[in-house]
Amino acid sequence: MATITLPEVETKETKKSTTKYVYSFGGGKADGNGKMKDVLGGKGAGLAEMTNAGLPVPPGFTIQTEACREYMRTNSTSKEVERQMDEALAKLETLQGQKLGVGENPLLVSVRSGAKFSMPGMMDTILNLGLNDKSVEALAKVKNNPRFAYDSYRRLIQMFGNVVLDIEKPVFDEIFDAKKKQRKTKFDTGLDAKALQEVIAEYKKAVKKHAKRDFPQDPREQLVMARDAVFRSWQNDRAKTYRRINSIDEMLGTAVNVQIMVYGNLNDTSGTGVGFTRNPATGIKEFYGEFLLNAQGEDVVSGVRTPVPILELQKIMPEVYDQLREITTRLEKHYKDMQDFEFTIQDGKLHMLQTRNGKRTGLAAVQVAIQMVEEGLITKEEAIFRLDPGQVVDFLVARLDEKDVKPGDLLTAKGLPASPGAVVGQIVFTADDAVEKAGHGAEKNPVILVRAETTPEDIHGMEVAVGILTSQGGMTSHAAVVTRGMGKACVAGAQEIAVLEKLQELRVAGQVFKEGDWITLDGTTGRVFKGKKHLLPPDPENLAKLAQFMSWAEPYRKMRVRANADVPRDAEKAREYGAEGIGLCRTEHMFFGEKKIGPMREMILADNEKGRRAALKKLLPLQRADFAGVFKAMDGLPVTIRTLDPPLHEFLPRREDLMVDIALLSSYSSKEKKDLVKKYRDYGVEGAGDLKKALPLLLARVEQLHEFNPMLGHRGCRLGITYPEITEMQARAIFEAAVDCTKKGIKVLPEVMIPLVATVKEMANQGAIVRRVADEVFKERGTKVEYMVGTMIELPRAALVAGEIAKEAEFFSFGTNDLTQTTFGFSRDDINKVLPTYLAEGILKQDPFAALDQEGVGQLVRMATERGRKTRPTLKVGICGEHGGEPSSVEFCYKTGLNYVSCSPFRVLTARLAAAQAAATETLKVEGGRTK
Ligand code: PEP
Ligand code: MG
Repeated sequence: MATITLPEVETKETKKSTTKYVYSFGGGKADGNGKMKDVLGGKGAGLAEMTNAGLPVPPGFTIQTEACREYMRTNSTSKEVERQMDEALAKLETLQGQKLGVGENPLLVSVRSGAKFSMPGMMDTILNLGLNDKSVEALAKVKNNPRFAYDSYRRLIQMFGNVVLDIEKPVFDEIFDAKKKQRKTKFDTGLDAKALQEVIAEYKKAVKKHAKRDFPQDPREQLVMARDAVFRSWQNDRAKTYRRINSIDEMLGTAVNVQIMVYGNLNDTSGTGVGFTRNPATGIKEFYGEFLLNAQGEDVVSGVRTPVPILELQKIMPEVYDQLREITTRLEKHYKDMQDFEFTIQDGKLHMLQTRNGKRTGLAAVQVAIQMVEEGLITKEEAIFRLDPGQVVDFLVARLDEKDVKPGDLLTAKGLPASPGAVVGQIVFTADDAVEKAGHGAEKNPVILVRAETTPEDIHGMEVAVGILTSQGGMTSHAAVVTRGMGKACVAGAQEIAVLEKLQELRVAGQVFKEGDWITLDGTTGRVFKGKKHLLPPDPENLAKLAQFMSWAEPYRKMRVRANADVPRDAEKAREYGAEGIGLCRTEHMFFGEKKIGPMREMILADNEKGRRAALKKLLPLQRADFAGVFKAMDGLPVTIRTLDPPLHEFLPRREDLMVDIALLSSYSSKEKKDLVKKYRDYGVEGAGDLKKALPLLLARVEQLHEFNPMLGHRGCRLGITYPEITEMQARAIFEAAVDCTKKGIKVLPEVMIPLVATVKEMANQGAIVRRVADEVFKERGTKVEYMVGTMIELPRAALVAGEIAKEAEFFSFGTNDLTQTTFGFSRDDINKVLPTYLAEGILKQDPFAALDQEGVGQLVRMATERGRKTRPTLKVGICGEHGGEPSSVEFCYKTGLNYVSCSPFRVLTARLAAAQAAATETLKVEGGRTK
């Protein structure tokens, strides 16, 4: 068993022997309450609150999170925890008139994890604890149901064996499946009491073999071992991954809930289910959920059996249904939020096992928030925190273009619409394959993970897939819950589909699909199509609701939000989403457009100034038109245009490809040669008609430009300094476009930005060129335009000497992509070689290229802002790295006093909400609580 040690955290109270580690609940009274999520975890706090409210909750006790943190630090549980646990157990035994695992009517308990933030299925649970060779007989007698008793015992050994004793699941599955085969039954229910006794005997042998010890017969020993295993499960890989994706603090630890067992699998007047007080996918106000008769909780959540809609319960057990509705409505009013609840019915009696604020899609979050304001349940001020800014993307997800759907394309319409949005991708059957095939960066590949059902072990694959398809499980199955949280399209429980994981095949409607085949998922309706279907932009009705929601949040926002956009189309999109300017126009992207790449390459291939100027002359009108388009789209708003930044060889053919063409030239057919001439002509290669002569010359130039570390090489302002004519041309294009637009009545506010500056002299050098060209253009055209010249801060040196640089720069924009790269020394293109290990080992909490490293890179941002403003108090400061659209980084930027963040158009709304929430947290003096 792995031992995990957590560093010391604040433990003001913990060293005192008076720390209360164990909180009892039962008999209408609880030691804790619903506000104590930090201490009791979400589940423990909910159980306490429900008990205090007089609801039917099976009694028990919660061992608080501090005991988990202590366990992690010392790898043991203190005597005081043991003492308090024994005391609570004795109290529970007295309340129930039973003894744990002893006597004619033995007390049995469940042992469950429960952290502050819900982490569905990521940690471990053990049921039926207290059963042993003796108490199983007593249980059989008292319930008058031997089959049930043996089934409960074999489940305990299986769960305990796996969770506590680290025995692989297949060890037990093989024994169980073999027994089913022997008894010629497909279903678990086909095994009678005798068969289950045989399974138990074999399970015990397996425990002995693999764990080198007997299955513990002493109930208290079972309890202690189970408790510690739940503590350890806080540190399992899937829990770590889940915390990383959801930015949950590693240091929180989990509580352990010990609760008397109630049995949904006792008979046909028993059952278990989960539900929501409103629809978690759409937000519609409807009682929503699923249940299974004669089943245990695991059967519903794991998605092994497909459950029945909760409304059916009204017909089967009307009184229980009414009671459940009454209780859950009361809970929703009490918590002032949509509730996600779990219940069990034993012998026709309802027991509440859990209630918590339900996870929901972004669409549902807004819908529920608006409804609750209208119902007077919450205020608008409370409502603005009800949407996680990262979930805004749900409103922007694609829909299927129905016109592109032909009857033969539909593979099934019977999947569950588990998480909205339509996606197109290539099939993969395992999480590992998803990671491998999804690729990174420019090589990103859309994959759809297809599974019979997902389990928490698949989390890494789910993270990289564009969508998830499962053949089993319901709306509350693992796949459904997790994808909804991720804002990823998911079709779950598509029963007409057979997923043959061993064969790596998906079979449906008489067709076979293999890895790599393209399919389209519609997570909004639950349909699956073969091939790539055309997708449409999001639903305007939902966007209108979002706009209403945003109108409550926006008045609090103080920091501006701009967009990174390079072409008029993106600029228009950004404006639609409320961007208040362009924070970064990467001019190099414009060169990849038609017509421009030729002269651009010609410019690079020229090995003298004259040749470069000739090519730049061709580029000037094209760039001018680009800038005019962007200025027009952003009429009245500032536009930051960056001078050329990337290393030049990015525009040229790869050295290796060129070598191959040279080597094989003589063996090419005349058709191949013709194609090659065209290819190199398009590259702007002079004399491409004579490949034999042209290609070696091209290779020589490519080799001249080759660099070992291009990201640290001839790029950024170094290009404009070594080839000033490039900056001249770009400045001319900017100012000519600005003057032309101004003359047409368009309000233009250009901000020229110099990249990769490390010294004030670099800034002065480039600033002088820009200002000189501006003056020339204004004189030539007889019109002046207000403008600014500033710099990106993307090197640690620039941050250090920001006070100096601010003498020359009128604004700063943090290029945190490069600043992260150069501060950590991580290549932004290759980090994925080390990142998975770093995250798994806890060396990094999150990808620093996704969420700003506030501790390190953030310090440079803060320092440069302060130093820059000391020199120039009016200095405008923004950020244009990817972090500008990531909620926690946006909050950091607000707190650091930045004037704006700039992000991709798609993330503008996210940034707006994050900035509004950050400011509202301050103004309203609330704890900026997002629902996790
Ligand atoms: C940056 O480095 O953060 C930046 C915005 O520039 P680029 O990503 O183009 O290098
Ligand atoms: Mg950069």
